[in-house]
Amino acid sequence: MTTSTDRYRSFVNSPLGSSIGKRLGLPRPAELRRHSPGSPLLDGPAVVLGSGALAPDVTLLLKAAGVAVVDADSPDRLGAVVLDATTLSSVADLGVLRDPLGPAVRRLGPSGRLLVLARAADTTDEPAVAAARQALDGFVRSAAKELRRGATANLVVVAEDAEPAAWESTVRFFLSARSAFVDGQVVRVGVAATNAPDDWDRPLEGRVAVVTGAAQGIGAAIAQTLARDGARVVCADLPAQGERLAVVANRARGTALQVDITAADAAERIAAHADERYGGLDILVHNAGITRDKLLVNMPEAQWSAVLAVNLESQLRINEHLLEQKVLGSGARVVCAASTSGIAGNRGQTNYAASKAGIIGMVRSAAPAFADIGATINAVAPGFIETEMTARMPFATREVARRICSLQQGGQPVDVAETIGWLAQTASVAVNGQVVRVCGQSLVGA
Ligand code: NAD
Repeated sequence: MTTSTDRYRSFVNSPLGSSIGKRLGLPRPAELRRHSPGSPLLDGPAVVLGSGALAPDVTLLLKAAGVAVVDADSPDRLGAVVLDATTLSSVADLGVLRDPLGPAVRRLGPSGRLLVLARAADTTDEPAVAAARQALDGFVRSAAKELRRGATANLVVVAEDAEPAAWESTVRFFLSARSAFVDGQVVRVGVAATNAPDDWDRPLEGRVAVVTGAAQGIGAAIAQTLARDGARVVCADLPAQGERLAVVANRARGTALQVDITAADAAERIAAHADERYGGLDILVHNAGITRDKLLVNMPEAQWSAVLAVNLESQLRINEHLLEQKVLGSGARVVCAASTSGIAGNRGQTNYAASKAGIIGMVRSAAPAFADIGATINAVAPGFIETEMTARMPFATREVARRICSLQQGGQPVDVAETIGWLAQTASVAVNGQVVRVCGQSLVGA
């Protein structure tokens, strides 16, 4: 597989490159901490601030995960700062963001985490309370842009009566190295809750997943990551990708299914394969996607239709069939690949951006019906990810695309895969209808 390597990042992190970079004031993208099985949740102790109802439970969660929770004024280099901001209800209350949060953030170590927990601004009819809650949105997105050395900041908006079981998988994800390239995001968590997994290192144990477009790139990483986390994986891709698909399926100790997702019987074939091999289907990852870039004024009908057929129509058709036939039932998790192009738009990609924005519409609209059966549907929107697709970009365009995010680098396929792995967990039942960008807080689609 040819993916481009970020030689600049390696250079500015070398002893010579680092001193040259400093003198010239060049951007210095950090080596991001990524998850490996058995690695600790955080790389250092945590500070928990705020007097809301969530703070004690976050402290318990951290201690249970083996993280030392220290005082706000301890001199330690921190792995995370968590602020329970659920009680903030006035402009004066926002002062806590400057102090004590500001000084604590100064002590965040490399790949540290700033995580703010809040209530939704649109669930109160008191303007001052809504203002204080919404202020956190701008605050977190700005703080994310200020953090350095691979540290991230994210906001989790927790429903009023949510028990810890509703938000634990989400808080763990954002604190952990699994969220290395997820930055400046706002995610809502509802009240639905299920039991925690027996082992947080293998949260997909016993689950059956189908990943489309699994033969290469992001899809191959998804297959491998879901398998690492305990799932049995059906790797689906076009017959023309048969050889590569077999390699990926073997590596994930799963099975290969050669199927064109635009075929009328694709849903039946996916369901039949998962049923025959594994007795059902719990997780469906709609990852397959294509680009056929052209300016709108030059867009041939075939290129327009192909992109919409693969990226959007097939997902709509497959979901509808699998829901109708009750192949997707209680506990099902569907995760769809959107794109930051579908949020911000991109020159030459009217067809692609329309298809990816369509995914977002589909996910938001379908979420209540999924919730009714105890299932969820969410989207991930990758930004610049180091794959064959982005390796084909012209050098200068690629270099700019890499640097225009807060983390100053492209993401890895595994970063998208880890985010999908979190959404696919049984314990993530309260995360539904969300669109999570995996883009290092790219300026595109911010
Ligand atoms: P890729 O081109 O490397 O892989 C896509 C896979 O989908 C291929 O293996 C291909 O054979 C398969 N596929 C295409 N049409 C199919 C069909 N009709 N039936 C079954 N399989 C089919 O792409 P990637 O870079 O790994 O991207 C994966 C997903 O992430 C896509 O949906 C893409 O739009 C999205 N995405 C990627 C990036 C990025 O930077 N790479 C950014 C944003 C979004």
